[in-house]
Amino acid sequence: MASTDVFSDALTRLERIGRDAGIDPDVIAALCQPKAVLTASIPVRMHAGNTRYFTAYRCRYNDARGPTKGGIRYHPDVTRLEVQALALWMTLKCAVVGIPYGGGKGGVVVDPKTLTPMELERLSRGYMRAMADFVGPETDVPAPDVYTNARIMGWMADEYETIHRCKAPSVITGKPIALGGSLGRDEATGRGAYLVIRRYAERRALEPKQTRVAIQGFGNAGYHVARLLQRDGYRIVAASDSKGAIHSEAGFDVESLLQQKNESRKLEGVYCHGSVCELVQHERISNEELLELDVDLLIPAALEGVIHEGNADRIRAQTIAEVANGPVEAAADEILRERGITVLPDVLVNAGGVTVSYFEWVQNRQGLTWPLDEVRSRLEAVMNEAFDAMWAEFDGHGRSARAAAYGVALRRIEETLLAGGDRAYFAGNGGRAGR
Ligand code: NAD
Repeated sequence: MASTDVFSDALTRLERIGRDAGIDPDVIAALCQPKAVLTASIPVRMHAGNTRYFTAYRCRYNDARGPTKGGIRYHPDVTRLEVQALALWMTLKCAVVGIPYGGGKGGVVVDPKTLTPMELERLSRGYMRAMADFVGPETDVPAPDVYTNARIMGWMADEYETIHRCKAPSVITGKPIALGGSLGRDEATGRGAYLVIRRYAERRALEPKQTRVAIQGFGNAGYHVARLLQRDGYRIVAASDSKGAIHSEAGFDVESLLQQKNESRKLEGVYCHGSVCELVQHERISNEELLELDVDLLIPAALEGVIHEGNADRIRAQTIAEVANGPVEAAADEILRERGITVLPDVLVNAGGVTVSYFEWVQNRQGLTWPLDEVRSRLEAVMNEAFDAMWAEFDGHGRSARAAAYGVALRRIEETLLAGGDRAYFAGNGGRAGR
């Protein structure tokens, strides 16, 4: 990781791309700081009888295009600056896929694996009590992120409804289906990434059967994208989780990997102990080695900042699809571009999650439930349209795919922010513009 913090890194990239794309400086200035950030201390009565206090954040970054939208992360490394960076990326992401949201994000500094289920529920309800006047169906709509899930969203929605004395399922998305969640939300991020990769492969005439894929982070998003790619004939030659990585040129069966992981709680060292072990010879490698494998497609699907100035010149994949948020640092962008490596950016690749969250919000507000086929076909239409908008700016223009996607997003945000008049309008008309 570089020495700079993740928010400064995100701003550096935003300013550089915004300048190159000719975006109005007032618009970039508007996007260089969050609209509002709430910090809270959440008291939780612990199992042992004592009270612990957890630091929590919620950031409404920019709401020019609609209510702010973004997940809540539970992680010991959460910081205010990380939450702000993630909220900025959400602002861009929602604009890339053209849904009527701004960007937001939340987080709690906690290792949730150390809490009992009751402590976790108290913390989650406490978070919503602290944020109940800051979030809302028309203002800021949270969702799950790393180490939060549908059940936690259900507790939070219930707490919000108790405080406001009304039913308001659209205050939060990613809920359990029985509490107003949408069909297809669990697979949406992986499916959206798959749709982007599929369209890219068509444009570049890549042959799935000759494409070897490495997945860093075999979690929710990583599993679903791997599953769908394998169905099309791609060879998944490496996968990893927080405990380690495995590699086999013969390729792994994705469903067997999931089964092994679910049974043993980890990927490394367990593949061999289950029923499918003998079918595939494989080697154990480190997560760092996985990133540097000679593959065609590398999919970082875990954490921020894993590809940086220090390892960018050792990456051998021709294409990187950013399923995680911010896996490639700004300093690595140029190195990869100069080496001819295409980085399909997070704001496009992982936008399937927020898109189906938007569908959930729409269904809740309409009192409807869409069948799975409808969710999937609407997602496909949104992702294809977003890809095509990015591609029109990318192909043959000598800029990175990230710059192209940011360009699409920034112009949409610019259009909204300047709809009331730009600098030239006000300075040029001296207040006589009404005529
Ligand atoms: P998850 O918790 O389901 O999966 C994360 C996986 O990464 C786990 O398997 C974990 O073991 C693994 N991991 C953790 N540290 C690792 C390391 N050092 N090396 C390799 N693997 C490691 O989370 P998820 O929902 O799949 O999210 C993954 C990424 O995708 C995050 O960056 C998240 O912000 C992003 N994302 C997720 C969604 C969504 O809807 N789930 C939407 C947009 C973006």
